[in-house]
Amino acid sequence: MNRDAFLRSLRPRISDERVLAAMAAVPRELFVDPGLQGVAYVDCPLPIGGGQTISQPALVAGMCQALDLQPDELTLDVGTGSGYHAAVMSRLCAHVYGIELDPALTAHAAAALAAAGIDNVTVVTGNGALGLPAEAPFDAINVAAAAREEVPPALEAQLAPGGRLIAPVKHGGDEHLVFVRRTDEGYERRYLEAVRFVPLR
Ligand code: SAH
Repeated sequence: MNRDAFLRSLRPRISDERVLAAMAAVPRELFVDPGLQGVAYVDCPLPIGGGQTISQPALVAGMCQALDLQPDELTLDVGTGSGYHAAVMSRLCAHVYGIELDPALTAHAAAALAAAGIDNVTVVTGNGALGLPAEAPFDAINVAAAAREEVPPALEAQLAPGGRLIAPVKHGGDEHLVFVRRTDEGYERRYLEAVRFVPLR
């Protein structure tokens, strides 16, 4: 599949025009291994080294649509990997902090983001399960690695009032996306579709 066909295939699954524009603006080929650039627009995850994968692009679009990012918002991307998901988010909000456990991937992501001309993403190496307290609170948090049972409490605690979080969570054998919104009363949770992500370590 080429880039135009891929972008067309996102409709009508993705209806938010801002998300469609963000997907069109980010060249995924810059975020995959040089040997895989020919398949950059096949809608599947691809290896990025260290046993990790760049997320499936339609899922990236769907998660961005669910988070409903706004132009003035500060966001956190946990498990930044290649930097692709953070790059799409960066087109929809003011600033993205990306946190990645593997320093080699952090360096790759920073280089790919620079090559894509994106200057509103800051990538740091660290344990994303702890969030990024120094920069919190966040209007939205995206998590790209599956937690066991529950979203790490530190991440929910770093949501601003009205903040949203989306994360894959394992329940028994099943893995689902969970959408969390912080309200005045606490946290509202909604389970979305079944997914497959690499584990949160
Ligand atoms: N969003 C990425 C997908 C990366 S796959 C992309 O678009 O390319 C998930 C990533 O989470 C992997 O790079 C893995 O190294 C990272 N990861 C796993 N556990 C982590 C943790 N506790 N803290 C930060 N990153 C973690």
